[in-house]
Amino acid sequence: MSEPNFPGPEELQKRLQALLQSAFVQPGRPAAAASGETTDEAGPADAVFDFKLTPREIKAHLDRFVIKQDEAKKVLSIAVCDHYNHAKFLQERARRGETAPVEYSKQNVIITGPTGVGKTYLVRCIADLIGVPFVKADATKFSETGYVGGDVEDLVRELVQKADGDIARAEHGIIYIDEIDKIATSGNMIGRDVSGRGVQTALLKLMEETEVPLRNPMDLAGQMQTVMELQRGGKAGRQSVNTRSILFIVSGAFPRLRDIVDKRRSKTQIGFSAPAGAVADVPWYRDMTTADLVEYGMEAEFVGRLPVRVACEELVAADLRRILAESEGSILRQYERSFLAYGIEAAFEDDAIDRIAEMAAGEGTGARGLLTVCEQILRDFKFELPGSGAAALRVDAALIERPVERLAEVRAGSGRDRDLALRRAAADFIARLGETLGVPLRFSDDALGLLAEMSVARQQPVRELCSALFKDYEFGLRLVRGADGEALVLTREAVENPDKFLSELVVRSYRQGSEDESTAVSPS
Ligand code: ADP
Repeated sequence: MSEPNFPGPEELQKRLQALLQSAFVQPGRPAAAASGETTDEAGPADAVFDFKLTPREIKAHLDRFVIKQDEAKKVLSIAVCDHYNHAKFLQERARRGETAPVEYSKQNVIITGPTGVGKTYLVRCIADLIGVPFVKADATKFSETGYVGGDVEDLVRELVQKADGDIARAEHGIIYIDEIDKIATSGNMIGRDVSGRGVQTALLKLMEETEVPLRNPMDLAGQMQTVMELQRGGKAGRQSVNTRSILFIVSGAFPRLRDIVDKRRSKTQIGFSAPAGAVADVPWYRDMTTADLVEYGMEAEFVGRLPVRVACEELVAADLRRILAESEGSILRQYERSFLAYGIEAAFEDDAIDRIAEMAAGEGTGARGLLTVCEQILRDFKFELPGSGAAALRVDAALIERPVERLAEVRAGSGRDRDLALRRAAADFIARLGETLGVPLRFSDDALGLLAEMSVARQQPVRELCSALFKDYEFGLRLVRGADGEALVLTREAVENPDKFLSELVVRSYRQGSEDESTAVSPS
């Protein structure tokens, strides 16, 4: 018995599209738009891709954010300029209607280097500067699932999403694939061999030039949506994305690579095929060859499509310190902002920055360690201080040494500060009321204390609290006679029972007044 002949994903897609075409595309309309081929029909925003930067300008932008990695910055800046100048050139030719093929090797890049040293950050900063969509994925993700080709193509579809459906923009985007060393096929990782090679082959196709259908053939819902769009509008836009002008950057830690390069270099030196001392001056990562990467387990064809190679260096404590103090993307700004959201001014002192950098270097995860360390140090402060009334947090070495003590201090201090502020607000309220009435008024000290306490307990601003308590005083105090410019003191009793206090005040002033009068009319 023969197996049922079930079509593969690509075949399935072809059949589905043929079905759509025959069933729904109106007569007279060019069929190509719905057939998965590219057409010259402009997408919704076939915007002209305009690129004018020089390598120096790109490097200057990177210098603002990325510390160290000078070599990588230069190499990337040049590759990016070459790539986008060529993309612009192709675009101009297409506009002139020239279609003859042009010889060009794509400037796809491979970056090696340990984790957390700025590989992704470099690429992200470049994408931001140029204003192109950017997608990042880990190569290991592809080898875990069965359908490698479709998953790899999903990266391109993701670019379209990032470009808000603007295919022309997506076609100039950047795809960044990390952990590429994990799909190496040599050594004893036999389990991964097959899928690793599969991923490399699929990526290879993408890195050259290919048309990626807008909808994943395995995504039946997506295919149905195309049917519905066709039914509704009778017009499907471009159905595929060309990868010719997409810039591919791959990276990985390649932990064993240095040994391979060193071994080869020492062999070459023994064999006198290079002048003695010549290679020793070049750092190993500048001397990495296609053969070294192939020995590592990368497919030769794959490495061949990555002509631009550069290594990022490890970051030591001094570099991490500069990242905190100098980078425009420093995480300290992030912490300052998050405290400020609660009205707390956080300030990082130099001695704290030194200490954080040292501790982060010990983590061995590059600049990622900075975040880990800051979180450890500041977690309790981030939890306890918001809403405590604290207005400032000084992060210094002493805070890092004795966090519990400092937290208690800041909270006690913040209690004192808050109490003072509340008392001041109450004093202000009553002085203003006095000015309105032309009678100097003030609260006694214990009245101020009680008002501050009540404001906290009721979570009510002092001004609002006083207005409510003393709402009748503006009128009532007009009845109080004979203050004679002397300040009238509102005591704790006034706060506890404002009406009683006011009426007693009025009665007393009248009694006083009439006693004065009787004294006046009955002279002895
Ligand atoms: P990886 O090399 O593993 O791709 P990332 O670029 O993702 O590392 O680094 C993680 C974070 O650490 C970045 O988002 C950035 O905030 C910070 N960082 C890493 N390296 C640098 C650097 N050289 N200069 C400034 N910040 C850096």
